[in-house]
Amino acid sequence: TNDNINDLAWQKMDNLIPAIIQHAATGAILMQGYMNQASLQATLTTGKATFFSRSKQALWVKGETSGNFLEVKQVLTDCDNDSLLIACEPIGPSCHLGTESCFPEQKLTQQNFLSQLEQVIQQRKDDDPKESYTAHLFSRGTTKMAQKVGEEGVEVALAAVAETKEDLLGECADLFYHTLVLLADQKIELSEVMEVLQTRHNK
Ligand code: AMP
Ligand code: ZN
Ligand code: ZN
Ligand code: ZN
Repeated sequence: TNDNINDLAWQKMDNLIPAIIQHAATGAILMQGYMNQASLQATLTTGKATFFSRSKQALWVKGETSGNFLEVKQVLTDCDNDSLLIACEPIGPSCHLGTESCFPEQKLTQQNFLSQLEQVIQQRKDDDPKESYTAHLFSRGTTKMAQKVGEEGVEVALAAVAETKEDLLGECADLFYHTLVLLADQKIELSEVMEVLQTRHNK
């Protein structure tokens, strides 16, 4: 709201506040830019991250020429109101050099890698089944996917009691992957499963 915008510490740095853009699903830092009141206002009303370009001295909708927009999911301010953390769903690469992030060397936490895998599976869905194993699984349909999850579950159990640690690691990886494929087929997001786990934990 306008009240919230006016509460920010604009005077600290020439009416500009740094905005850190974070991937809403994986938590990866995608880019950083500066916002003035008008660009934050535009960000909130259009739902597309809009910055103030210091080089052009003008409002800049990220993606205005590349089409690589940032769809805003959540806007947070820090403890002393001089910094913004904005969770976004990126449409395409966020860096103008073509990488997903302006910090391409950053390591995702291992848990967030599952979210990344979830996205890759989503992207492969309609690829050529001859080129992509994931597309092959989708082309065979739900029953076969469900069967595969069942098989991998049994293989995990067998590996735990009768095989090596390497076998167990491989089977767990198979199970996670095939479960993600089945969830994608059922149009269920990993975050929904995580919410169930979190709710149980909070009890
Ligand atoms: P875009 O907003 O993606 O249409 O890109 C337009 C222009 O904005 C680019 O040519 C760059 O000059 C600049 N730009 C785009 N993305 C970034 C970024 N992540 N960091 C810094 N400058 C960028
Ligand atoms: Zn601060
Ligand atoms: Zn960049
Ligand atoms: Zn297996």
